[in-house]
Amino acid sequence: MNRAPPSSRTVAELLATARAELPDPREAVLLVAHALGLSREALYAHPEQPVTSADREQALALVTARAAGQPVAYLAGRREFHGLALEVGPAVLIPRPETELLVELALGRLKEISSPTVADLGTGSGAIALALARERPDASVTATDQSKAALSVAGRNARRLGIDNVCFLQSNWLAPFAAASFDLVVSNPPYVAAGDPYLEQGDLRFEPSEALASGPDGLDAIRRIAADARRCLKPGGSLMLEHGADQQPAVCALLAEHGYIGIETHRDLAGLPRAVTCNSSGAMA
Ligand code: GLN
Repeated sequence: MNRAPPSSRTVAELLATARAELPDPREAVLLVAHALGLSREALYAHPEQPVTSADREQALALVTARAAGQPVAYLAGRREFHGLALEVGPAVLIPRPETELLVELALGRLKEISSPTVADLGTGSGAIALALARERPDASVTATDQSKAALSVAGRNARRLGIDNVCFLQSNWLAPFAAASFDLVVSNPPYVAAGDPYLEQGDLRFEPSEALASGPDGLDAIRRIAADARRCLKPGGSLMLEHGADQQPAVCALLAEHGYIGIETHRDLAGLPRAVTCNSSGAMA
């Protein structure tokens, strides 16, 4: 029997090879579609399409990298967040669905304010800042990160999505900002305890540790933000933070210590305590 040369193999054969390597068939389809520059629908519609050997090699390289544990989002270079297709790569945390909770809470609060000023601290790919800016074109959003590489990714996302009401700034949390600058400060900061074995699992092994871990109890960044936001929020302004599922009592306690009022807790779609919201009383701490 004549075997077809590799260069004339088909989409169907490539998909079968990819599926045999990866436990999750959806990942196989996604990576093959990405390597071939086709939609998933196009793959299914034309399984008999020939695949060039270059495309085949590229697809199989992605499959091998995934089988070795690399995150699908990094291999495909994209992750969807709150309806936005974001570029992602190893310089940024992969946006999580649970962080959309923070966006919804922020949008709810911003309904009461016209032309709000908003800060997203540790913006990474720009996920929260861009989702808010897209929904609220009248907002002036400042997105900060310590990482220049992350800010490059976030800036490219803003340009590609045509969102022009976000300015990006390299900074250490709220350090460079004047008193009473913002109606809303929002952040999904690093909050995992350094050394937590959770950091050695799955995608987290490949993500920037500065975006994940924050001191012995995971709360260093949240402590810093809570302290600085008192100064940078306008009177009555809001602070909204994502945190670890077991950190809610500690986060609420430290917000109360700093004099925030109206502290409310929120669960994510998995039912886990995931975010707190509160307001600046207006009086300086
Ligand atoms: N949400 C991350 C996780 O649990 C932890 C760090 C963060 O998002 N800020 O995987």
